[in-house]
Amino acid sequence: MSAAQAAGIVVVGASLAGLRGAEALRRAGYGGRLTIVGDEPHRPYDRPPLSKHVLSGELAPNATELPELVALDADWRLGHAAVALDRAARTIRLRDGTDLAYERLLIATGAQARPWPDAAGGGLANIFTLRGRDDAARLRTALAETPRRVLIVGAGLIGCEAVSCCRDLGLPVTLVDPNPTPLARSLGTWVGGVITECLKEAGATFHAGAQVLRFEGDASGRVVRAHLADGRAVEADLVIVALGATRATDWLSGAGLMADAGGVTCDGACRVLGADGTPCPDIYAAGDVARWPNPLYGGRLMSVEHWGNAVAQAEHAARNMLAPAEAQQAYRHLPAFWSSQFGINIKAVGLTEGADTVAIVQGSRASRRFLAVYGRAGRSIAAVSFDQARWLPAYAEAITGGQAFPPIRDASDQGAFTPMAPGFPPPRAASTHIEARHG
Ligand SMILES: Cc1cc2nc3c(=O)[nH]c(=O)nc-3n(C[C@H](O)[C@H](O)[C@H](O)COP(=O)(O)OP(=O)(O)OC[C@H]3O[C@@H](n4cnc5c(N)ncnc54)[C@H](O)[C@@H]3O)c2cc1C
Repeated sequence: MSAAQAAGIVVVGASLAGLRGAEALRRAGYGGRLTIVGDEPHRPYDRPPLSKHVLSGELAPNATELPELVALDADWRLGHAAVALDRAARTIRLRDGTDLAYERLLIATGAQARPWPDAAGGGLANIFTLRGRDDAARLRTALAETPRRVLIVGAGLIGCEAVSCCRDLGLPVTLVDPNPTPLARSLGTWVGGVITECLKEAGATFHAGAQVLRFEGDASGRVVRAHLADGRAVEADLVIVALGATRATDWLSGAGLMADAGGVTCDGACRVLGADGTPCPDIYAAGDVARWPNPLYGGRLMSVEHWGNAVAQAEHAARNMLAPAEAQQAYRHLPAFWSSQFGINIKAVGLTEGADTVAIVQGSRASRRFLAVYGRAGRSIAAVSFDQARWLPAYAEAITGGQAFPPIRDASDQGAFTPMAPGFPPPRAASTHIEARHG
């Protein structure tokens, strides 16, 4: 056995993708050395409850640990950040200076919350982001001190879930977003308008089409208000910044890989590409950090920040890691996510990007129980359900098969429907790839 083989497989990132990838390696019969490196001190835990049951106080932050579904017999290096990768030497440098040898490497370092810039008041006390268990614990403690008013910046999925929890706790909340409705980028303003109604009913204040420029603090350095671009000021003694995430790829700079803040680029088999575009046969990536050509979307580069992708891609990458090159399969994935907010269980499949039409095909917008389908150029591309997920798997299948819009016309409980304009805001600065964000 060579020194590299003795080094075995190293997984960097001890969260959902890292854990499920490691389990898949063992399940596929890998019996060699397995090392899992994580910069957080915790065993892998689940992030979705953090912005839901943990913030509302129903679940303790340390009750989110993910179950180990297979005996891993792994060497856990928790609380150790990887700071560099040396491909020639096949080693990973940890922050404490240790060099860890690998035969094969799975990169699963995910993403980190986009912080508020210090120059605009980001360093003030009581301004939070929410990505990890420790963030959730700190935020939960601060919310339990009953702030006079909470300000949430960003009406994406996590921002809206946070508003919902704060209202459940009886806290006064203001939500600010540059778009006309919440969830405008992921679901469009026509569907997002349902959440505007929920905000109103829940007693939250929503400043749509507004932008926070900077935060102001008091003499003790604690946030007291936000200044908006339109000249208004919003009083708040606790702020949650929910502006999405950037991929955790800093540690790969200098490794000669195709990696930047948008992710690490892989080929279809999840093998990471070198800077010259050649796949590295011994380095794979999965989960939020990975960007790959998805065959389901004509091979367009895509990164997906949703739970289901982290699991499926990690398992896929793990199987490929153990297979000979000619037997490695391309990873084909239909993005999907769920969210719960204002008592509504939201589930979505597909990508709404470029949708030119949307129609409610089951239920009604007025009842807030519905299934809506999105179309582009006559094809079905995505579907979302609000408390109406029964038919969602059938729509997922139709979307995967590229069926016409709408794909199902004769369901027993389907009435007449009217196609509407989905109302997506103009795209942000051009991205190099399709991004399915959870922020
Ligand atoms: C608050 C919140 C709520 C969410 N809710 C939902 C939901 O309802 N539905 C849904 O579909 N998705 C949801 N998501 C998204 C989902 O949780 C992610 O897609 C999933 O966690 C991605 O898993 P991952 O392992 O790829 O990345 P991550 O979970 O980000 O894990 C990466 C791990 O690698 C570590 N790491 C980073 N850099 C290094 C380094 N240099 N060295 C060592 N370790 C490193 C990180 O600290 C982290 O522990 C939510 C996400 C958040 C943050």
